[in-house]
Amino acid sequence: MKNYSLDTIVSLAKRRGFVFQSSEIYGGLNGCWDYGPLGVELLNNIKQAWWKSMTYREDIEGIDASILMHPMVWEASGHIENFTDPMVDCRECKARFREDQIEESECGNKAFKGRKATKCMEEGKFTEARKFNLMFKTFIGAVESDDSVVYLRPETAQGIFVNFNNVRESSRQKIPFGISQIGKAFRNEINTKNFLFRTREFEQMEMQYFVKPGTDESEYEKWKEERLRWWQELGIKRERLRLSPHPQDKLAHYAKAAVDIEFEFPFGFGEIEGIHNRSDFDLKQHSEYSGKKLEYFDDVTKQRYIPFVIETSAGASRGFMAFLCNAYDEDEAPTAEGKLEKRSVLRFHPKLAPVKCAVFPLVNRDGLQEIARNITNDLKKNFNVFYDESGAIGRRYRRQDECGTPYCVTVDYDTLKDNSVTIRERDSMKQERINKDLVKKYISENTD
Ligand code: ATP
Repeated sequence: MKNYSLDTIVSLAKRRGFVFQSSEIYGGLNGCWDYGPLGVELLNNIKQAWWKSMTYREDIEGIDASILMHPMVWEASGHIENFTDPMVDCRECKARFREDQIEESECGNKAFKGRKATKCMEEGKFTEARKFNLMFKTFIGAVESDDSVVYLRPETAQGIFVNFNNVRESSRQKIPFGISQIGKAFRNEINTKNFLFRTREFEQMEMQYFVKPGTDESEYEKWKEERLRWWQELGIKRERLRLSPHPQDKLAHYAKAAVDIEFEFPFGFGEIEGIHNRSDFDLKQHSEYSGKKLEYFDDVTKQRYIPFVIETSAGASRGFMAFLCNAYDEDEAPTAEGKLEKRSVLRFHPKLAPVKCAVFPLVNRDGLQEIARNITNDLKKNFNVFYDESGAIGRRYRRQDECGTPYCVTVDYDTLKDNSVTIRERDSMKQERINKDLVKKYISENTD
């Protein structure tokens, strides 16, 4: 497996319209990114694949809770007290570091480019560590006072916990069952870095599975395997994934057990999803702070209890970056003159590919364009399709390879004779001829 540099992937992402810097014309905003025309399709396809796998089943319901929540939610969850990172400042260059990430950081003084931050620390330039709360604050209503402070949610999970009774009662679910949600989360990270890996605004795909105490450990194991499988089903090889359990003494305040699923990024392995056994911490806390009972009555065993929670918490944005890095490859493709030229290709799983099919007329005359347009219009009813009539065919293929389009359909002179078109597959570059009326069925069978 080749390891391509992050710079190569970031530059393709910008060139092809996957990701742009936020507010770029004003110099950008640190830790924020915009998804371009292809990026938003890829992101939606990732979220859709997750949603189908995690909600279209009997035991899981979906919700979409609001981003702003009652401030007591964050008291109860422990975020006001504990959602902090230890921060140190350099007295000399004024750079700010997360104390636990100093080893991976560089000195903030541009004149000393490449100098390790650990060196500055050894020279005694850093202040003592202070706790820095990562939640963004704002005000609700017309008056800006201490009473009107609200937070942009730093995770989607709490919207699920506070809706436990609502969802269970309205959907008549019985334990074990889960609630899933996809949505934006905000963290005022001390240092943002590595493109979409650590940003201040990002999206999460979270599911909380409510189980009977005592069954939590086996459910935790089950979800660990199930989530590991999901990333592989969408094209990530097992050797680029690793499970990294949290040691008992490093567990978050709510966790009984935790493991990260990590992906091998160009800069090394990094977490893309956390699986946590959250015990009964969350429902207990919210019961206590709200005064509302959040428990379950089993009408068969007549037992009443507070369920334990197994959480699967994946990053849609980090996942996007993992799928992009996983897909990027370079190889050689034949030119019209029979030579070989370098090509960059995004080998996305067809389910995730932003454009499912591109349609080309071989030349722009003799009615080939009309046929190609008709095929495009028909496909457009079901898929994101791209019509391209400019440049040599080889060039058009190269463009689609860089966008990760799994199939290209070419209308040529044989189409006029026998209604057949060429369909070319991105990875093998193999071409076959099929009847133009079967293209839709072919794309549907091979991309869904
Ligand atoms: P890290 O240790 O990298 O800060 P975390 O353990 O705080 O992450 P969780 O709170 O478990 O992360 O969040 C679940 C998922 O949300 C992560 O696996 C990741 O995919 C995503 N995520 C968390 N923080 C960020 C961020 N700042 N930018 C992008 N994605 C993030």
